[in-house]
Amino acid sequence: MAKREIKVYSDLSGANAVWADKIRKLREEKNVVMLNLIGSPGCGKTMLLEKTVERLSAKLRFAVLEGDIETTRDAERLDKLGVLVSQLVTKGACHLSAKLVHKAFVDLPLDELDMVIVENVGNLVCPAAMDIGETAKIAVLSVAEGEDKPAKYPRLFREAKGIVITKTDLLPYVSFNMRACLNDIKQINGTIPVIKVSAKDGSGMEDWVKFLTSFSEKPR
Ligand code: MG
Ligand code: ZN
Repeated sequence: MAKREIKVYSDLSGANAVWADKIRKLREEKNVVMLNLIGSPGCGKTMLLEKTVERLSAKLRFAVLEGDIETTRDAERLDKLGVLVSQLVTKGACHLSAKLVHKAFVDLPLDELDMVIVENVGNLVCPAAMDIGETAKIAVLSVAEGEDKPAKYPRLFREAKGIVITKTDLLPYVSFNMRACLNDIKQINGTIPVIKVSAKDGSGMEDWVKFLTSFSEKPR
């Protein structure tokens, strides 16, 4: 019997992969790093970026893509600081798709950029599973959320190439067990870099910026 070709049907994530690959190709061609910041709503992603702008601008040329379900509020916050920023509005979707990111990415002046930082929709679950053609996913966890989040949402912390623990200025006021958190992270993702920062009081910000710039030094 002649060998019949088997038809293969795939879900939406298959279509997502096509767009993610387009982004990846373009990134490689233009030599642009793309970092995908993922964390809960309110974990301090936008404020971290606000406080990153000045320090990072001194080292490399970057733009920000802000992902939210609704509003342009976060983009407005960064725009005020003079950073090139676009807002991606998902209109209900709880994560950024590669198709939407691609739309905004191709409109950026990529020849004049070293890095694009994507702030994903606040969510610890599906952005972790969604490929947007990024160089690396970065997990953001605030001490106000509790130390159990890496253990409860391991996929993000496994996929990430770095973890930033934010709002460390709140440590005296919250019952966040740093040691337990770091132990869980070690179980999930061995030697992953963990950076502790307070965007508010500035502690750890130098380490954070050093970590970010390390991506543009590596082959991408
Ligand atoms: Mg935000
Ligand atoms: Zn989602």
